[in-house]
Amino acid sequence: MACIFCEIVARRAPASIVHEDDETMAFKDIHPQAPMHVLVIPKLHIASVNDLEEQHIALMGKLFLVVKHLAAQWNIVAQGYRLRVHVGRGGGQLIDHIHMHLLSGRQHGA
Ligand code: 5GP
Ligand code: ZN
Repeated sequence: MACIFCEIVARRAPASIVHEDDETMAFKDIHPQAPMHVLVIPKLHIASVNDLEEQHIALMGKLFLVVKHLAAQWNIVAQGYRLRVHVGRGGGQLIDHIHMHLLSGRQHGA
């Protein structure tokens, strides 16, 4: 079955895209769990953290730089925000294309 995030990358499926470059994309989560809930993904299809290889190290680093860029753009650097990565069904992962949740605009506990 086709990967929905690959479909979004290919623009065959709709999404509210907030960032795109050669290697990454960020778009709003369809079921937001915070006032701002974005998914940051590599365009390359990597199923999960369990599928990462040495060759993906720079690409994974870029995901964090996209987060930094969005946080500055949205003025949430001072207030803080939360990043989440689910791994496997037991870890709450539903979409098998590696992604980082960026949640902001809500008070998070320690
Ligand atoms: P996971 O639980 O796999 O870490 O997170 C998957 C996330 O993707 C969920 O928060 C879900 O709401 C979101 N999601 C699932 N399908 C779509 C979709 O087609 N478009 C968008 N924008 N988000 C989706
Ligand atoms: Zn994919």
